[in-house]
Amino acid sequence: MKSNEPHAYLVGGGIGSLAAAAFMIRDGNFAGSNISVFEALPVMGGSLDGSGDAARGYSMRGGRMLTTDNYECTWDLYRTIPSLHQKGKSVFDETVEFNEKHKAHSMARLVDRHRAKVPVRSMGFSMQDRIELLKLSESDELKLGGSRITDWLSPAFFETEFWYMWATTFAFQPWHSAAEFRRYLHRFMLEFTRIETLAGVKRTIYNQYDSLVLPLQTWLKTQGVNFVNDCTVTDFDHKTEDGKFIVTSIHCLRKGKSEVITVFAEDYVFMQNASMTDASSLGSMTSAPKKLSKRDSGGWTLWEKLAAIQPTFGNPAAFNASISQSCWESFTVTLKSPAFFNRMTQFTGNEPGIGGLVTFKDSNWLMSIVLAFQPHFANQPADVQVFWGYSLFPDRVGDFVPKPMDECNGAEILRELCGHLRFDLDTVDTANCIPCRMPYITSMFMPRVPGDRPLPVPIEARNFAFISQFVEIPVDVVFTVEYSVRAAQIAVYNLLRIDRAIPPVTPHDKSLKTQFEAILKAFK
Ligand SMILES: Cc1cc2nc3c(=O)[nH]c(=O)nc-3n(C[C@H](O)[C@H](O)[C@H](O)COP(=O)(O)OP(=O)(O)OC[C@H]3O[C@@H](n4cnc5c(N)ncnc54)[C@H](O)[C@@H]3O)c2cc1C
Repeated sequence: MKSNEPHAYLVGGGIGSLAAAAFMIRDGNFAGSNISVFEALPVMGGSLDGSGDAARGYSMRGGRMLTTDNYECTWDLYRTIPSLHQKGKSVFDETVEFNEKHKAHSMARLVDRHRAKVPVRSMGFSMQDRIELLKLSESDELKLGGSRITDWLSPAFFETEFWYMWATTFAFQPWHSAAEFRRYLHRFMLEFTRIETLAGVKRTIYNQYDSLVLPLQTWLKTQGVNFVNDCTVTDFDHKTEDGKFIVTSIHCLRKGKSEVITVFAEDYVFMQNASMTDASSLGSMTSAPKKLSKRDSGGWTLWEKLAAIQPTFGNPAAFNASISQSCWESFTVTLKSPAFFNRMTQFTGNEPGIGGLVTFKDSNWLMSIVLAFQPHFANQPADVQVFWGYSLFPDRVGDFVPKPMDECNGAEILRELCGHLRFDLDTVDTANCIPCRMPYITSMFMPRVPGDRPLPVPIEARNFAFISQFVEIPVDVVFTVEYSVRAAQIAVYNLLRIDRAIPPVTPHDKSLKTQFEAILKAFK
């Protein structure tokens, strides 16, 4: 029997939901034991995954770059989440200290087909590029509508050093949304001036599962939050009162068994509508990842059902209808000999953790790798090294392997990588390379028009909100941890009527035009 105290049900266990639970408890005086998180996968954290060990090999779908000049809501949250490793410190404190010690300064950001480090002090802009970029950055979103970056910038722009650095730092493709690209130019204005060294980038101590998800989940557990894994929410029952959409029950499949949870008048439901890592699949040293889609995962079904009922709940088809435009592949490599790291340090001039992304700009797959500070996993032995890489064009045939990346196993990906580096294959003879295909990884960047993304709390919703990368938050940018945390804070503060200011997006783009003009001039 349920008490009259409100309960909150969070559908999806990504950082967005975990942040929402924390905001409810910290800022809304909500009882942690009245919060349940339902996650389809066996672990919490969603896209911020990281797992494995030295014997089986480590794997993570992504490696994140953060900043302290942006990420206002993320640090607002993590300022009050205790570190797992340093007593008396918060996750924010330990991350800032770590970055003070290990300042990012890339010395080999771009490498060309001759294995030469490309001088990147110049952005490579022509006058036409500059004029077009200014025009795009000053257009408003109504004008940009559902246009693509290629509708605004000429082909030569996509050959500039700037594009190679910007595109591979943030994973943009020429066919992606011009409106989102414009938002990035404004939001990450400061990065524009230091993109060649990645000096603004802040890293977590370990991978983001160990450094962001685990401390948050641990704190939530101490507050009594109820975590339910292997539980897919399949449907909601709802009623409409005074034009308001009210969820009345939740249908789920928990370890294969159907369950129905009644949602009472005083309760709240938060839903993560879809995931950029939906339908992702892992390969191995001997097999390529399976080519899955939303049909295999069912990960978009709930949002599709809701959007069909209520037009203001968005349009998932704008984002999930073209895998060939939203897919790329990453890989995680576990090594048991320092040979590869030593050679990379020699080649780049950067110690692991300092250089960040190294992009092989002429590679057919457009491949990049990152050697993070070691150890990168909390359980990683001292004699093991782990690095991560990714390619934006997995459907193209390689330069050293005559196959598209998405048909390659881990051994073939290493062969391609060593080809670009001109390293002998024996530098990776202890390596275990685990590829990961992500068919919807840039689905949030697909061209969209107003209305394709629901508001975190749609006007018609009474006890219901969306928290994800597929909601509309003015000014902020997707493909960031910050966007999900900001969506969570907006959703929770709105539904629970919390009277505390949400940290605003920092206006680094004040007097944008003047700054842009000065920067463009400086980087002739
Ligand atoms: C390769 C890669 C690189 C990245 N690089 C960066 C970076 O450099 N900087 C940065 O800030 N961010 C980066 N990101 C983005 C960042 O990781 C994500 O934006 C963020 O983790 C998304 O969190 P989320 O909670 O919104 O969604 P997710 O983490 O996708 O979580 C959603 C969860 O909901 C679950 N779910 C959905 N529907 C249901 C249902 N019906 N029932 C039960 N469960 C359900 C899913 O299984 C999933 O676990 C990167 C991500 C990846 C994958």
